[in-house]
Amino acid sequence: MPNLSYHRPSSITEAVRMAHDDPEAKLLAGGQSIIPSLKLGLLAPSAFIDLGGLADLRGVRLDGRSLRIGAMTSHAEVANSAHVRQHLPALAHLASGIGDRQVRNRGTVGGSLANSDPAADYPAAVLGLGAELRTDRRAIPADSFFHGLFATELGSDEIVTAVEFPLPERAAYVKFPQPASRFALVGVFVSLTGKSVRVAVTGAGPCVFRVPEMEQALARRFAPQSLNGITVPAGSLNADLHGSAEYRAHLIPVLTRRAVEQALA
Ligand SMILES: Cc1cc2nc3c(=O)[nH]c(=O)nc-3n(C[C@H](O)[C@H](O)[C@H](O)COP(=O)(O)OP(=O)(O)OC[C@H]3O[C@@H](n4cnc5c(N)ncnc54)[C@H](O)[C@@H]3O)c2cc1C
Repeated sequence: MPNLSYHRPSSITEAVRMAHDDPEAKLLAGGQSIIPSLKLGLLAPSAFIDLGGLADLRGVRLDGRSLRIGAMTSHAEVANSAHVRQHLPALAHLASGIGDRQVRNRGTVGGSLANSDPAADYPAAVLGLGAELRTDRRAIPADSFFHGLFATELGSDEIVTAVEFPLPERAAYVKFPQPASRFALVGVFVSLTGKSVRVAVTGAGPCVFRVPEMEQALARRFAPQSLNGITVPAGSLNADLHGSAEYRAHLIPVLTRRAVEQALA
């Protein structure tokens, strides 16, 4: 392990200042992505700025027609939250299917989104619901947050503080998990709000993406049959030892159909 300093700020302002003053430092949430990367020698930060002491970044709150989830809220807290289970059960289900018990107890919403792993689950919910990310300095709509492989709209000293999830009429998340890690080989989040439908796919591309043709068909009629004949080209999709691009392309309509069935159940 490289030599590095450890800081534990007591306010968001102090954390931002520390990140601003040392561009080689890295924010630390639950360590579930950054510590493995460090161990593999993929990064060598000068310091960790541990967000663990910032109580303001934790918790789930119901604000009218949206759920506000603090960036440092763990996957287990989201999965077990009475508010999430009652008002957005698709998100509770998504969180309960992340990794294993240790990953769910340590890993956080904000860390997952800032990391933008191509196979992570939360990006599908954030894009599939049209959520808004709050940072220490601005609000970022989901549609402009994800830029590509491990790349987001965030500045290097910018801290995600919370995510605002609007409450849909219907929603479901279905993933085909990679059996060892439970990361999504492909995962599809579908939501219906009024006449608007969103379909967000994770695991299949460099980062999460929407499928407009499916959204338009489902907006005309929110039923599995509306997806008949719609395919997604394999061309730009991920291929690795777990599955070819063609296999991932095949999974997208299959999982979307299942997600619509679940949303209607
Ligand atoms: C064995 C294993 C299995 C896993 N399986 C899954 C799975 O099935 N599905 C899934 O979605 N994920 C999975 N994960 C990843 C897991 O969800 C992590 O929670 C997630 O990757 C982020 O980890 P973390 O919250 O601990 O953040 P960290 O690892 O601490 O940080 C990750 C990155 O985000 C930055 N960061 C952290 N918090 C903030 C913030 N508030 N603002 C700005 N930047 C921030 C850090 O600087 C770092 O670059 C798995 C991980 C492991 C180790």
